[in-house]
Amino acid sequence: MALETAANRKETEQIISFIHEQKNKKTAPFCAYLHHMPGLRASTQQRVQSLPDFARLFYAVKANSESAILQALAPIVHGFEAASLGEIEKIRQAAPNSKILFGGPGKTEEELEGALRHHVHLIHVESVHELNKLHDIAKRHGQLASVLLRINLRGPLPAATLAMGGRPTQFGIDETQIDQVMQHVKELSFLRVEGFHFHSLSNNLDAREHIKLVQYYIRLAGEWADKYDVKLNYLNAGGGLGVNYADLDKQFNWDEFINGLEHEVRSGIRPGTTLLFECGRYITAAAGYYATEVMDIKQNHGKHYVIVRGGTHQFRLPSSWQHSHPFEVIAVEEWDYPYARPVIEAGNVTVVGQLCTPKDVLAQDVAIKQVRAGDILLFRYAGAYGWAISHHDFLSHPHPAHYYLEPATVSVP
Ligand SMILES: *Cc1c(COP(=O)(O)O)cnc(C)c1O
Repeated sequence: MALETAANRKETEQIISFIHEQKNKKTAPFCAYLHHMPGLRASTQQRVQSLPDFARLFYAVKANSESAILQALAPIVHGFEAASLGEIEKIRQAAPNSKILFGGPGKTEEELEGALRHHVHLIHVESVHELNKLHDIAKRHGQLASVLLRINLRGPLPAATLAMGGRPTQFGIDETQIDQVMQHVKELSFLRVEGFHFHSLSNNLDAREHIKLVQYYIRLAGEWADKYDVKLNYLNAGGGLGVNYADLDKQFNWDEFINGLEHEVRSGIRPGTTLLFECGRYITAAAGYYATEVMDIKQNHGKHYVIVRGGTHQFRLPSSWQHSHPFEVIAVEEWDYPYARPVIEAGNVTVVGQLCTPKDVLAQDVAIKQVRAGDILLFRYAGAYGWAISHHDFLSHPHPAHYYLEPATVSVP
C-alpha cells in the first residue's frame, strides 16, 4: 500500500482547513507544526495489526519524542526504542509500563544505571568496553541485564540514504570480532545475551530489498546462535523503512513487505525467536506537517526566492538530507495592507527561511503556479526528524506553534 492514499489526502485537507481557521484569528505570521493524531494512530495500528505473529513493531523515539506523540503511540506499538537516558525518561513519563529497548554508542554509567532502574527490556551493546561497563554495573546492583549485541556487518548491503553499517562507522561491533566477543561475554555472568541487533541503514524505499536484508540478518544470527550456543530470543532488524520525499506517490510498499515476511521470512525464523523492528521515520513522518507563512518574495541574480517565517532552525530535515522538501501552497486571499503584495506566477522558486546563512534552504528550484506574500506553504511528511533535529534557538526567533489535532478540533470541509 502506498502511503499517499485518498485517506491521506483527506487528512491533509483537514489540516489545511484548520490552518485557514487559525490564520483568520491571528495577525502574527502563521508558523506551526501540525500533527494529525487520528491519522498517526490509524496508520500505526494498521501496520502493527498486519505484522505476522513472530514480529513486533517498536517506535524509535528520536524521530519525534514529543509527549503527545509518545502517549498516542503507547497503546498501539509494542514498545519504544530509546537512544539516551533522556529518551528513556520521556518514555517512562508518557508510557510508564511500555517495553523499552536502549541503544546508541558511548553510553555512560549513569545511562546504563538508569536503564536498569527503569527496567529497560533489552540493552543494545555497541562495544566490548560497553559490555564490560554494563557487566560491572549489573553485578554491583545484583541485577541480570538482558542484552542484544549490535553488529556492524561487513556487507555488501543494499544502498540507502544513510548507512550505519556495511562500512566503517561508530556503530556496533565489527562482524569480524564476533569470535572474540562471544568468548569474552561467556565470562560476564551478569549479562544475558538474548540475540543480535542490526540497524544498518536508513530511509530504504525498497520493500523487496528490505526483506532480503532481514533474511540475511536471520541467516547470520542463526549461524552465530548455533556456533556460540546462544538462545536466539530476539533478532532486532532495526528501523530504516523509508519515506519517499522526492515522489510522495511512490512510498515504501508495506503490503509487499508484510507479504515477504509471511512467505519468505517466516520459514527462516526459529520457534522462540521474536523479530523486532524499531522504526522512527516510517511511523511519524506522514502525519506531521510544517506550515509557514510567506514573508517576502524577491528576485536575486535572476532567481526567485520565497522567504518564509521560520526556516531550517525549525525544520532542518531538508538541509540535513540535502533535498527539496515537498510542499503545497495554501492560498490566503486576505491582504490588508496599503502596499503591493509580492507575487510570482508560473515560475521556479527556491524556498528559504529567516536565517542569515545561504544554507537555510527548504526547497530548491521548484515549479509553482502562483505564490504570494501572506500565502502559507505546507510542508508534508514533516513529522519525523523535523523539529526534533533542529537548532531551535539559532537567531532567537520565536518557536512555531505545535498542534496535535483531533477530529473534534478539526473542521471537516
Ligand atoms: C535512528 C535509529 C532507528 C530508527 O531509524 P528510522 O530510519 O527512523 O527508522 C532505529 N534504530 C536505531 C539504532 C537508530 O539509531
